[in-house]
Amino acid sequence: MKAVCEELVWCPADPKSAAPVTYSRSITLVLTHDCPWHCGYCGFRSDQEGLISEAEIDRVITVAVQGGAREVLMISGERPGSMPHIAQELARRGYPDFWGMAESVAERCRRVGLFPHGNFGRMTEGELRRLRPAFVSMGMMLVSVWDEPKMAPEKKAVGRIAGIEAAGRAKIPFTSGILVGWGESQPSRLRSLRVLAELHATYGHLQEILIQRYVPNGGSRWPASPGPTLAEYREMVLAWREWAPGVAIQIPPNLEPSWESLLPWLDDLGGISWARDEVNPARPWAQWEQYEKACARAGRKLIERLPVYASHQSAEWLDPNWGRAVRDFYERAAA
Ligand code: SF4
Repeated sequence: MKAVCEELVWCPADPKSAAPVTYSRSITLVLTHDCPWHCGYCGFRSDQEGLISEAEIDRVITVAVQGGAREVLMISGERPGSMPHIAQELARRGYPDFWGMAESVAERCRRVGLFPHGNFGRMTEGELRRLRPAFVSMGMMLVSVWDEPKMAPEKKAVGRIAGIEAAGRAKIPFTSGILVGWGESQPSRLRSLRVLAELHATYGHLQEILIQRYVPNGGSRWPASPGPTLAEYREMVLAWREWAPGVAIQIPPNLEPSWESLLPWLDDLGGISWARDEVNPARPWAQWEQYEKACARAGRKLIERLPVYASHQSAEWLDPNWGRAVRDFYERAAA
């Protein structure tokens, strides 16, 4: 063990290393890939694909239930309702707007015992408050406070920060994080984490942050760069523990090749699915059992969580729609 610690640069083990690692049994439901913006790193967006069909929504929900998922990660391009062809399609299907569709699909998930987590990009406080009863939790990546015009010409850090603040005021259990491995510097990563910690200090709504490795996909126009070294991960983890104690760190294992080396330091593996990763389709997850074995090798247990963490299961954070079901889950898990 000593040799491994020396190899990893950091030692002794993080005090959290004996705690279980968590994950969420998840399936992703893409309401639309259409997006008015053109982030250089994005391999997800489309222009004229339109909305997911009602039959496909039913199919994904059925597959989620049959496959044992609890979380439905519902995503889309940013503000697709602002695109005229989407607005027309929403009207044709009888939805008042895009948020009305998201609410309706979330309610269909809730009725069959699934827990929807929404990530639709920047939203206003009014929009977030409107969706709060329908979604057990929501999220949006900060990505970076280093605005790189070529990487995300229309999407500025100031807008994402305003969105994360709005979620805090709306009392929504929230997931955010940073993207690494696209050419950013270590000071930029730390500055971005510091901003997230400051937002959490004000609102208390961050339940976890992702340190997410950038993986270019089919449509990505931005090249990957070397990700953080293990020593740089260590520096980020230690800083985050000091700045935002109790807020979990997620590292998605299908995106970060060094995830097993980071097991002594991370808290969560994120949503894991037998279905494909809709944002990074070339990076499927391994079976749940393989993650379980890797955690066991590191001396840690892998346990399931909901998209809303136990830390945010109180009435302060959850709409009455969700309180009972969430408390039941965590009571059963603790029994
Ligand atoms: S990253 Fe999000 S906002 Fe940017 S182009 Fe892709 S879907 Fe749109």
